[in-house]
Amino acid sequence: MTPQDLQSLLALQSKDLTLLQLKKEAAGIPERQAQRKAQLSDAVQAREQSLAQVNACENAIKQVELDVESKQEQIAKYKTQQIDAPTNEVYHALEREISTAGEVISGLEDKELEEMGRLEEAKAALEAAKEAEKAAREAADQDVAVLEERLETIRATFAEVKEERQVLAEDLDPEIRDRYMTLLTKKQEAVLVPIKGKTCGACHMTVSPQILHDAHSGQKWTVCSYCGVLLYDPSIL
Ligand SMILES: [Zn+2]
Repeated sequence: MTPQDLQSLLALQSKDLTLLQLKKEAAGIPERQAQRKAQLSDAVQAREQSLAQVNACENAIKQVELDVESKQEQIAKYKTQQIDAPTNEVYHALEREISTAGEVISGLEDKELEEMGRLEEAKAALEAAKEAEKAAREAADQDVAVLEERLETIRATFAEVKEERQVLAEDLDPEIRDRYMTLLTKKQEAVLVPIKGKTCGACHMTVSPQILHDAHSGQKWTVCSYCGVLLYDPSIL
């Protein structure tokens, strides 16, 4: 390739590599956004666990209250039975039942107080978990929005660079351009590569003396026989 063709093709390749890099970055953004949102799951789980704890305490209190009510009904029944007690013995037996039920109620009330204390703690923990989740969600939303902005910037830059590469491509020898495009489409990375020392700048294999000579004298095609990239001699530029 003549130094002029080489320079034009290098300029085009520089734009194309930018386009490839932008495309790759843009393609990765939705996944990065999804990952960022998925990081919220710890905070969500913590809030759900706190809520379950609050519900468990509330249910326990309800159950205790039902038990108290049932004991109170029992006591009322015993008292009614006492009125009709046929003997003193029966009357005193009922009295003992009433007393036992009263003790059970007293125990249940202690339990209710304990559960209420636990409920207060669980409610405070739930509020804290809600706050933590809110903060985590805001941070994640902000990161997702920043990535969205980056995506917009990439789209705008991509359009600009694409236009610039079109202008460069039009000035190129069609044969060179087509061969370059075929290679670029296949490899999706730099395909016009300098010879470094006596090795291919892409695969680092030693280049034959013939290719070194051809590249140095500006022959049209100097292809690496190992990896297939187009080689050029940077000293001719
Ligand atoms: Zn190579």
